[in-house]
Amino acid sequence: MAKPWAKKFYNSKPWKSARQAYIVKVHGLCERCGAPGYIVDHKIELTIYNINDPNITLNEDNFQYLCLKCHNNKTFAKYSAVQEGLEFDENGEIVKIAPLSN
Ligand SMILES: [Zn+2]
Repeated sequence: MAKPWAKKFYNSKPWKSARQAYIVKVHGLCERCGAPGYIVDHKIELTIYNINDPNITLNEDNFQYLCLKCHNNKTFAKYSAVQEGLEFDENGEIVKIAPLSN
C-alpha cells in the first residue's frame, strides 16, 4: 500500500487526473497481458527523493497500466519471493506449480 510520504501524492488531483487519462489512453487494459487493468504503476518507482518531481510522478512515459497479476508478478519478482516450483495463480496468489498431467 501507499507509503506515508506518498499518500499526499496519491490523493492529489494532478495524479488522479493523470492516472485516469492514462487508463483511458490504454483502453483500460493491462499493458503486459491485455486483461482488464488494475493499477497504474510507475516504471521508475516513486521514492521520497522523486515524489515531488512531476517528470517522474506525472510523466506518462513512466506509467504502465497493469492487472493485479502482472503487478504482483512485478512486485514479487523484485523481492525474488517466487521460488522454483511456485507460481502465481489468476488471483495473484503464490501457489505450487501443479504437476503436468499426462
Ligand atoms: Zn496483466
